[in-house]
Amino acid sequence: MKKATLLACGLSLSIVLGPVLARTPVATGTGGAVATISEQASNSALRILNGGGNAIDAAVAAAATLGVTDPFSCGIGGGGFMVIYLAKDKRVITIDHRETAPAGFTPAAFLENGKPVDFESVVASSASVGVPGTVRGWHEALTRYGSMDFKKVLAPAIEVADKGYQVTEIFSHLTAQNERKFQLYAPTSALYLRNGKAVQPGTLIRNPGMARAYREIAQGGVKAFYEGPIARAIVEAVNKPPFAPGKSARTGRMSMADLANYEARIRQPLRSTYRGYEIYGMPLPSSGGATVAEALNILEGFELSRMPRAQAEHLYIEASRLAFADRNAYLADPEYIDAPVAGLLSKEYAAQRRKLINQRAGRSAAAGDPYGYQHDQSVPLRPQSHRLQLENAHTTHLTVSDKDGNVVSYTFTIESWGGSGIVVPGYGFLLNNELTDFDFSGPHPNVPEAGKRPRSSMAPTIALKDGKPAFTIGSPGGSTIITTVLQTIFNYIDLGMPMDQAVNAPRISERNGEATSIEPGFAGTEQARALARFGHRWEADPEEIGAANALVFNPDGTVTAVSEGKRHGVGTALVQRRGH
Ligand code: GLU
Repeated sequence: MKKATLLACGLSLSIVLGPVLARTPVATGTGGAVATISEQASNSALRILNGGGNAIDAAVAAAATLGVTDPFSCGIGGGGFMVIYLAKDKRVITIDHRETAPAGFTPAAFLENGKPVDFESVVASSASVGVPGTVRGWHEALTRYGSMDFKKVLAPAIEVADKGYQVTEIFSHLTAQNERKFQLYAPTSALYLRNGKAVQPGTLIRNPGMARAYREIAQGGVKAFYEGPIARAIVEAVNKPPFAPGKSARTGRMSMADLANYEARIRQPLRSTYRGYEIYGMPLPSSGGATVAEALNILEGFELSRMPRAQAEHLYIEASRLAFADRNAYLADPEYIDAPVAGLLSKEYAAQRRKLINQRAGRSAAAGDPYGYQHDQSVPLRPQSHRLQLENAHTTHLTVSDKDGNVVSYTFTIESWGGSGIVVPGYGFLLNNELTDFDFSGPHPNVPEAGKRPRSSMAPTIALKDGKPAFTIGSPGGSTIITTVLQTIFNYIDLGMPMDQAVNAPRISERNGEATSIEPGFAGTEQARALARFGHRWEADPEEIGAANALVFNPDGTVTAVSEGKRHGVGTALVQRRGH
């Protein structure tokens, strides 16, 4: 997550650099629409839409371009979750292409002498690299639901990688934050450092290695990544990391079989309802959909729209706290654990949880007992009440629709800024450190296991009303993803804000921790003071939270694409035809 200074960087950026002024964080029109945090990525999506591609094709094109221009938050070295509304079938599906732990992984992978190892020492190392899922996810998306092949959708990203892109203030700042990690690895230093220091704003970065990787995938398809020279290069980079002279770090283990055996999962979306909307979110192994849905179920019993804003926001914070207590206790990879999701999502269970909320801010809520609300009560798990484990906050989210009504809401990541810090030699992409999303020690449903997917917070969401897409929302930000999505829905539906206001409003993130996270500049405001009267306490070191992107399908048939107006250097929203 970026420091307070970054907000200032983002603001000064829009004054100093000409092209940024042209960025449009809100656009309304007809035909397809796209919102991403990268101007080039939104342009790539629009180019594919204008060339006859559908929303799925355009989403992959945008994602591939983000892999070039925002290489520290996403890329083919990582994984993600895609939620798709298929207009022809009028249904929502999801593609889980989360990274998996290699077959050699064990529950003791992050223990030494029975104690959890230092978190940061695992982050900047190949010990936390999960088997990447992104290319497999794109392949499933394109072959099942797209209309174009890799060759067409990767073309715009290849151009950007070949021609290069200008380093922005934020890019430079993130590189500086990760200098020590990047100094560990020779190919990473070569790409993103100059004489061991972060690239400066304005520098042109070309990435011929990434262009080469994309070309090989365009040529050889999904196998080029999972079985060919790229796979060999990944395995080599994990097992014998390309350390810079004199450097060392922890080392993991991955085999060619780990890559060849990687599978994406087509999963049923998690469906819940909220005040007449159907909310489709990501099921496990992401905790995103379930936690957002539980909190909304709790909120649904309050007449929020008739309350003073502070009262409603107090309830939003408390609902989030309770949902997070359950998330932290129960949720993990569904192929390894029988999590009580049906109980957690029942309206009756939410009614019980709601009773725990009063006029005072809660402190460290305990997990509830959803088992009485499950249809099948045969295998109860004991809740494992863990403190919120350290989680980083990065990633990227994009959203696209097309003229035929298909809609994509897509969040993907390499986990920390710059992932493990390891650029795969010859191929210019960073490997993830997703395995740090496991709980390092148990007992806990989310402990490491071979082949398991670490629990995520990613929450790409599509909401329907009267059977038709109404809006989409998603964000980066580690566990704050959940609160950003939840708060934006609350702002939009309950506080009645237009989506751009709902996105730009100050973010308040309660994850059942010691104090509530807020953004720089919030603490002294009237809004904050009104909440403090309920007893809310703010985290001492505010940071910018998230970078949301959304679409709204308006009653008159137009679509409004919304990106961040201030955060992360301003996003880019585009529509195929502007106006009505
Ligand atoms: N690894 C995180 C997750 O899956 C996303 C990375 C981030 O946003 O920091 O929830």
